[in-house]
Amino acid sequence: MTENEEITIVGAGLTGGLLACYLARRGYRVRVYERRPDPRKGTVERGRSINLALSERGLDALRRIGLEKQVMADALPMRGRMIHPVQGELDFQPYSLAGDRAINSISRGALNNALLDAAEAWPGVRIDFEHRLVALDPETGDLGFDTPDGPVQATAGVILGTDGAGSAVRGQLLAHDVLTERLDFLDYGYKELTIPPSNGDFALAPDALHIWPRGTSMMIALPNPDRSFTCTLFWPNSGTNSFASLGSPAAIERHFRTHYPDVLPLAPDLVDDYLHNPVGMLGTVRCAPWQYGGRVGLLGDAAHAIVPFYGQGANCAFEDVVELDRCLDETGDTWDLALPLLDAQRRENAEAIAQMALANFVEMRDKVASPVFQFGKRVEHV
Ligand code: FAD
Repeated sequence: MTENEEITIVGAGLTGGLLACYLARRGYRVRVYERRPDPRKGTVERGRSINLALSERGLDALRRIGLEKQVMADALPMRGRMIHPVQGELDFQPYSLAGDRAINSISRGALNNALLDAAEAWPGVRIDFEHRLVALDPETGDLGFDTPDGPVQATAGVILGTDGAGSAVRGQLLAHDVLTERLDFLDYGYKELTIPPSNGDFALAPDALHIWPRGTSMMIALPNPDRSFTCTLFWPNSGTNSFASLGSPAAIERHFRTHYPDVLPLAPDLVDDYLHNPVGMLGTVRCAPWQYGGRVGLLGDAAHAIVPFYGQGANCAFEDVVELDRCLDETGDTWDLALPLLDAQRRENAEAIAQMALANFVEMRDKVASPVFQFGKRVEHV
C-alpha cells in the first residue's frame, strides 16, 4: 500500500474523527462511513453521555495534531472529587497534592464536531453520513451499507473499524470466524439527569467532579460550559434496589429525597429526566485479534470498550490512534505489519485499564466516602 491510496474508516465518533486526521496528515486519502446523520446539523440524542473527562492521555493525542487549544477552550478543569454524603459536610479530595493538575470536563458533542471539522479540512477526507455498515468480507474488502437511498456497495484495501462497543466491523469478523470476542456486561446501567444553572450560575462548585457514593448505587456530576451539570446515576438494572424499582413520580422524588437530598432542590426536571432518559448498558469488550490479514483493523471501543469508572475509554481510544501512527512510522506504512504491531503494542495496556476501570467502580461508589481515601493521590482517574 502506498501513502496516497485510500483508507476506509467505519464510524465517525471520537476515534474515527481523530484517526481520519492522523491518516490524512500521513498523506492518505480517507473515506469515512458513519451510520448517523451529520451531528453538526442536528440535535443530540436525549440522555446519552453529554460530557466526558479528558485527561493527559487524550490531550496528548489532540496536541500532536494541533487540536488541543481549540478543544481546551471550552474545557472545565476539575481539580478533585467533591464527595456528597447523605448528610453532613461536603468533602473535597484533590486529585493532585503537588501542583495544579486537573482532568477536564469536555462536551462530547463539541469534541466530536471539532474532530469532524478538522478531518474534513484535509483535502483527501470524505465523510459519508447515514451509511450503516451491514456487510464486510475480510478476504476481498467488499463492504455493504444501508443508506436512506438504499443499499450501497464499496471495496476497500484497508478498513479500520472505529464503530464503537457494538462494532459492526467486529461483528463481521466474528461472523467470518476470524476473531473471538467476550462481552462482560455489568448488572448496572446508567441514566443521565441534569442540574441546570441556578440564577445563571453553576449550582455546584464547577471545578470538581461531584460524587454521591451510596454503596449499591452512585451518582457523579460533571460541569458543562452552559453552567449546567450532567449527572450520571449508576444503579443495578433489576431487583428491589434498582432502576426498575422506581415506577412513579412520587417514588422517584421519595428516593432522591432520601438518598440524594441535596440534588432534589437543584434539579427541577429530575422526575421528567428520570422517566424519559434511557438506561444505558455498561460492559467490557474483549476480542482477539484486533486485525485480520493486515487489511481490517479495530480501534477504540470497537476493540476494547471498558466501563466508564476511570474516565479513560476515549482517552485510551485516542492513544490507539497515536500508537497506530507510530506503528506506521516503524513499518514504513506497511499495513500488514503495522496492524499486528498495533495489537502487540496496545493489548496489555488495554487490558490493564479495563481491569482498573472495574476496580474504580468499587472505590467510587463506596470507598471514597471512607477517611482512608481522603487524599486521592492519583491524577488520571475520576
Ligand atoms: P463511539 O463513541 O461509540 O463512536 C462509534 C461511532 O461509530 C458512532 O458515531 C456510531 O454512530 C458509529 N457506528 C456504529 N455502528 C456503525 C455502523 N454499523 N456503520 C457505521 N457507523 C457506525 N471516556 C473517557 O475518556 N472519559 C470519560 O469521562 C468517559 N465517560 C463515559 C461515560 C459514559 C456513561 C460512557 C458510556 C462512556 C464514557 N467514556 C468516557 C467512554 C467513551 O465514551 C468511549 O470510550 C468513546 O466514545 C469511544 O469512542 P469510539 O469512537 O471508539 O466509539
